[in-house]
Amino acid sequence: MERNLEEKSKKYLWLPFTQMKDYDEHPLIIESGNGIKVKDIHGKEYYDGFSSVWLNVHGHRKKELDEAITAQLSKIAHSTLLGMTNVPATELAEKLVNISPENLTRVFYSDSGAEAMEIALKMAFQYWKNKGNEKKQKFISMQNGYHGDTIGAVSVGSIELFHQMYGPLMFESYKAPYPNAYRFEEGDANQCKEECLEMLEQLLQEQHETIAALSIESMVQGAAGMVVMPEGFLAGVRRLCTKYNVLMIVDEVATGFGRTGKMFACEHEQVQPDLMAAGKGITGGYLPIAVTFTTEEIYRAFYDDFQNQKTFFHGHSYTGNQLGCAVAIANLELFEKDKIVEQVQEKSQQLQTLLRELTHLPHVGDIRQLGFMCGIELVKNKETKESYPKEARMGYAVSLKMRELGMLTRPMGDVLVLMPPLVSTIEELGDMINIMKQAIIEVTDE
Ligand code: PLP
Repeated sequence: MERNLEEKSKKYLWLPFTQMKDYDEHPLIIESGNGIKVKDIHGKEYYDGFSSVWLNVHGHRKKELDEAITAQLSKIAHSTLLGMTNVPATELAEKLVNISPENLTRVFYSDSGAEAMEIALKMAFQYWKNKGNEKKQKFISMQNGYHGDTIGAVSVGSIELFHQMYGPLMFESYKAPYPNAYRFEEGDANQCKEECLEMLEQLLQEQHETIAALSIESMVQGAAGMVVMPEGFLAGVRRLCTKYNVLMIVDEVATGFGRTGKMFACEHEQVQPDLMAAGKGITGGYLPIAVTFTTEEIYRAFYDDFQNQKTFFHGHSYTGNQLGCAVAIANLELFEKDKIVEQVQEKSQQLQTLLRELTHLPHVGDIRQLGFMCGIELVKNKETKESYPKEARMGYAVSLKMRELGMLTRPMGDVLVLMPPLVSTIEELGDMINIMKQAIIEVTDE
């Protein structure tokens, strides 16, 4: 039976972000999950070391979340949000507004992080038009930024490996430098931050009249390799956006819902975005709901008699799905009851101590962490920070070894990712780091 399933997976499926030739060599089919572990069809168990791509909060098969879906199913699975609403979508909206930065008072639902960003971009663009400003139509985004895979989100992204191919399809956006302190040769993290802010200000001075909005991942660039920004950068960007009358779109898709030790990462610097995208952890990792938050000021620019053509014409078939919203409500109730954010704050200090185990390994160049978002950068030469050649695919090789040793994760190039479910205990975190350590030693020694 298992063989048969593997054959079918190879014959019929095309998997996201996957070279299928790699999959055919190393197939994996998950059958079940429990707590922070998942089990494949052969019965082998793995730690979910990347929260099933940065989503999972309370572990798998969490009783309260399972029950919330069953209870909602006994009423209705889905009805539309076009021109009407439903009970859980309305209740959830209030809860979301109550936990978000205070200037954000409205929520617009969608189904994925990329869509939530796409919506933020379209809202920002139309906001200026609705206000009668025809000049502000362009965007600034960050070098090495990632906001999802739809064309709009790709246009404000800049990960060469994922995005270069689609150049001709994209709309133009200015790319501002992002402060990667590890790769900054000319000084410390503070200097790195100051230089990036200066260059951003220069760009804004020249172009602000044509710029609708700036998009930025909150506190950590995830897909770029868990690059945590130096203290004060996000607040600096907020200051410049305000000074030059440019809307600030903060992407909390990866960082939101407790992942960094705050409900939303922009709270680390008391930043109030104009638009904010979130998704992933919103349902505890259960169902695809995402959300774009905005301010009353932006909302009001769309609110008018229909014939004045200010309506936001955007929506998806499954927007505001009841099952998703019901489980999101149960998820937020668990956040409160189990004090998840406080737990992450406490445990991330112990996690930092555990990660020190890896510091002395000869090919670990840098360890970056904010809360439960950790990146371990492998380098060929620790002194010179020289990277491994791309063809060596070290991150991939180490992650495959980790799989063999009982832990799942996906690297970003040669940066190993540790992003465990937020309920992981210190003992479980220790186990995962031991697996990582063993895999790094075995593969880099070869
Ligand atoms: N924005 C950020 C910062 C992300 O990390 C991701 C996904 O990893 C996205 C957007 C896209 O989210 P989704 O995969 O739900 O479309």
